Amino acid sequence: MIEEAARLLKTGKCVAMPTETVYGLFCDSGNEQALAAVYAMKGRPASNPLIAHVLDVAMAKRTTFGFDARAEKLAAKFWPGPLAIVLPRRPEIAAVGVGGRGTVAVRAPAHPVALAVLEAFGSALSAPSANRSGHISPTTPQHVAEEFKDIDDLLILDGGACSFGIESTVLDLSRARPMVLRPGAIGEHDLSPIIGAVTMPHLTKQDASPGTMAKHYAPSLPCESVKADTLTRRLFNQTVRTVVIGFATDEVSAPHIKVEMPCEAQAYAQRFYAALREAERSGASAVFIVIPQERGGLWVALHDRIRRASA
Ligand code: AMP
Ligand code: MG
Repeated sequence: MIEEAARLLKTGKCVAMPTETVYGLFCDSGNEQALAAVYAMKGRPASNPLIAHVLDVAMAKRTTFGFDARAEKLAAKFWPGPLAIVLPRRPEIAAVGVGGRGTVAVRAPAHPVALAVLEAFGSALSAPSANRSGHISPTTPQHVAEEFKDIDDLLILDGGACSFGIESTVLDLSRARPMVLRPGAIGEHDLSPIIGAVTMPHLTKQDASPGTMAKHYAPSLPCESVKADTLTRRLFNQTVRTVVIGFATDEVSAPHIKVEMPCEAQAYAQRFYAALREAERSGASAVFIVIPQERGGLWVALHDRIRRASA
């Protein structure tokens, strides 16, 4: 299957495959037609850049300019893993794949399937998450199949459920002071000991990164984030059947539906997008996401995704 995927990619086809974050829709980073097809398949705005996935630092250097000592140190510490680094792009990365920008976000994914395909293919593969634009990111091959059920010749490599479950941290090293454009697993206190001061996004009104519009990663039914201490009252006043994505709580009773979430951040991340899809399939008419009390660390990224799902 790995060889078959690499062969299809060489002919300009796109292939869905797992990374540790979410499933992606991959194609040759240098093939304009293939990149355009990925945007069309997703319905993704042309201005929203894709992440270029690389096998290692050597491949990253063939796709970027200025992969300097800071980038080397970050890659040594976090690659393969959920950190995408934005740097000026070399012509190997076609402009259509980065929304016409002069930069590209590169990362080495920590999934044996993605790494094996990258090795067989031999150069960078660009990918967005393998979902229709604005919808919930897929974390299993079944999710990808649901998203693209009208496309029957899409090869989906099965690597099981993603171990990490939410999108990578995107760190811009192309500007004077490094800036996180999208929060993810790797936070400020992981980055600043290695590269010094890092600007964090103003999470609710950032426009530094294209595609990080307020509403994103969202289910197809009305979705609201709700404070735990208001849940009882909110459910009491709720006139439609509602799914509650939350923590051990007895407040949710029929006709409402409970989707139980783990309390630990990493387990929460791994489960989050699947929970949103369960809510969609439940037959209910609305979703409440109970806002976790915890802050900091991975919760920064999780609060960001909860906000975008319910924007
Ligand atoms: P997705 O593929 O859906 O995970 O989206 C990738 C996201 O990474 C984009 O929506 C941007 O927010 C960010 N990104 C990727 N490449 C760049 C870039 N060259 N400059 C700034 N942000 C980027
Ligand atoms: Mg996406």
